[in-house]
Amino acid sequence: MLGIEDFFLKSIMTNPDFLSTGPVHNVNLLLPAFFDKVQKSILLYKQSYPAQDIFMLETYRSNTLQEIYFNRGASKLKKDGMHHFGIACDCMFVIDGQRTFKGDVELLRRIHEFMGLTILGMWDSLHVQYIPVGEQQALRAAVTGRIATFQKESGLPVTSEPDGATITEATNQFPRWA
Ligand SMILES: [Zn+2]
Repeated sequence: MLGIEDFFLKSIMTNPDFLSTGPVHNVNLLLPAFFDKVQKSILLYKQSYPAQDIFMLETYRSNTLQEIYFNRGASKLKKDGMHHFGIACDCMFVIDGQRTFKGDVELLRRIHEFMGLTILGMWDSLHVQYIPVGEQQALRAAVTGRIATFQKESGLPVTSEPDGATITEATNQFPRWA
């Protein structure tokens, strides 16, 4: 689905931050086509506010951290949110040299929608993602299927999960971060 499952297998599962328990800011863990669109959104926003800047505060999120957020009530999802697949990020503004959430949130959200990206409700107002909420289940299934295919091809037990043996094998076959 849009190359996301391949990106997950080859670039996310193999990244040293895959199991990170802290927030990840690395934009290399975002699907390049998604990253491009968010960057264009930011450029458009800055046409209205040349003195402001926007950066991508949290990009990829491990399932361990997702569960921590869930237990704190900070997220409605226990695992496999769109951050986990490299197709969501949370933005933050820089105004007068200070990081803040109080930029023109409404304008940024309208620009994201104009770019064909998906935003959520105001309860998560600075989150943006690559696919509509209605396609999330299909994406999760596509990723599971891709992992199972990889496990079959590599002679591994087919768990359809990114278990330790599968991460090791993927890292050997796709040494992108070595
Ligand atoms: Zn988010």
